[in-house]
Amino acid sequence: MSSHVVAVGPAWTIPGYLEVASGHLTINGADAVSLVREYGSPLFVFSEPRIRSNVERLKLAAQAVERPIRFFYASKANSNMAVLNTVLQTGIDVEVNSGGELFKALRVGFRPNMIIFNGTSKSNEEIDEAVRAGIYAINVDSIYEIGLIEESVRRVAAERSEPVNPARVALRLVPEIGTRSHLGLQTALLTSKFGISSSEVLDAFRRGLQNPDLIHVCGIHIHVGSQTPDVEPFAEAFRRMWEHLLTIHRETGHTLEHINLGGGFPVNYLRDRSQADQLPEHERDMLGANLEPSVVLREALRVARDSARAAAAEHLLDAVTILLEPGRSVIADAGLVLTTVRNIKRRPETGDVWLLTDAGYNLMLSMNNYKWYYHLISATSAGEPHEDSYKVAGPLCDSGDVYFDIERGGRLPDYRFLPNNVQPGEVLALLNSGAYSLAQMFHYNGRPLPAAVMINEKAVAKLIRRRDTYDDLLTNDVW
Ligand SMILES: *Cc1c(COP(=O)(O)O)cnc(C)c1O
Repeated sequence: MSSHVVAVGPAWTIPGYLEVASGHLTINGADAVSLVREYGSPLFVFSEPRIRSNVERLKLAAQAVERPIRFFYASKANSNMAVLNTVLQTGIDVEVNSGGELFKALRVGFRPNMIIFNGTSKSNEEIDEAVRAGIYAINVDSIYEIGLIEESVRRVAAERSEPVNPARVALRLVPEIGTRSHLGLQTALLTSKFGISSSEVLDAFRRGLQNPDLIHVCGIHIHVGSQTPDVEPFAEAFRRMWEHLLTIHRETGHTLEHINLGGGFPVNYLRDRSQADQLPEHERDMLGANLEPSVVLREALRVARDSARAAAAEHLLDAVTILLEPGRSVIADAGLVLTTVRNIKRRPETGDVWLLTDAGYNLMLSMNNYKWYYHLISATSAGEPHEDSYKVAGPLCDSGDVYFDIERGGRLPDYRFLPNNVQPGEVLALLNSGAYSLAQMFHYNGRPLPAAVMINEKAVAKLIRRRDTYDDLLTNDVW
């Protein structure tokens, strides 16, 4: 082979990770079709090396700024125990959103001081669990909740008949900043259910500082929303948090230790743009976002630095630790769903060919409720041109279980491009589907939930979730 000949794969390939070998899709060298043969279909496949390199990318971004940065993986994106364990091994921390996620994080080995607990509707039991563990921060979502945490600390002290350390608390704010993401993923608008309004921030802090023996207010938190494609909302949110920190210091003398900028770094779902022009423009910009976390951090710090200089408060900024809560950017493109075509039909009236797969929206809820685009390829014929159009749908007894926008909003392509003459038995792959998929799946239609495997750097697959049996469908029913 002459030296200028470079093997160019399809646009979705990622060298060393997602590739084509002997015509098949391979994941870190593991053959997708063989995986389905061994573990059944549908099947979630995760890449351990990709999770590691996604975290490495974040750590490199942290080196772009001169403030200490701590990453707390948002476990709601995927809280499979092997995924959590891989994240733990990378050395970053974890963010949980429920007592259940807290339980899993502790069980897998995160130490309490590596855990942040968010949530709008925490139960007393959940707060007690966080207080008992003594976690890094409980992010409170309202002024009312501050009182709940104080009561919890009293309860836990009574149960131990000795004083406990004050609970570490951060205040979550609604930053009142719009982004170009889906409305359902935007958490930052005033119509959002999350956080304390900025007009109440000072009151909230005064309230938080009332009983220092019970709670210690250590930080301030925002989350602008998921899949945020632009740098401006992050920078603006950080500037506002910083200015709140300044005000609080001025008004109360209290110095906060950290500013938590939340998650929301986007993932490029349109690495392969062959169907991108069928998406509405704003959807395309959002899904195809290519925003480097280092750019976000640099810009956020630059804006805060200007403000700190103007206020002669650089010493305060120099004391701040920045926390981030990445979920999607750690796990989305490290996972995919393999699904098998089970049925085929023609509609003579429209000329359409329909492929019916075994992966429905019970595995990828976002495809239904946000019309999220997961690029579909043939794993069996990964190297073939994908130029034929098919209607593709899942197995559920619901006409909304389709891979296009049934509401005709045009938010998904009407047809998916696959190779010529796809037949039942062929294995397809929905790429970039590692986040908010496995974590949201459910048993609708009495469908046993699929297995999941993790591939390591030596192409070895390890089972990380057993496929349900029919008996699992009965586990909690009483009759
Ligand atoms: C969902 C969520 C995250 C993670 O968001 P990603 O878009 O997955 O990075 C982080 N923090 C909070 C508070 C969240 O609700």
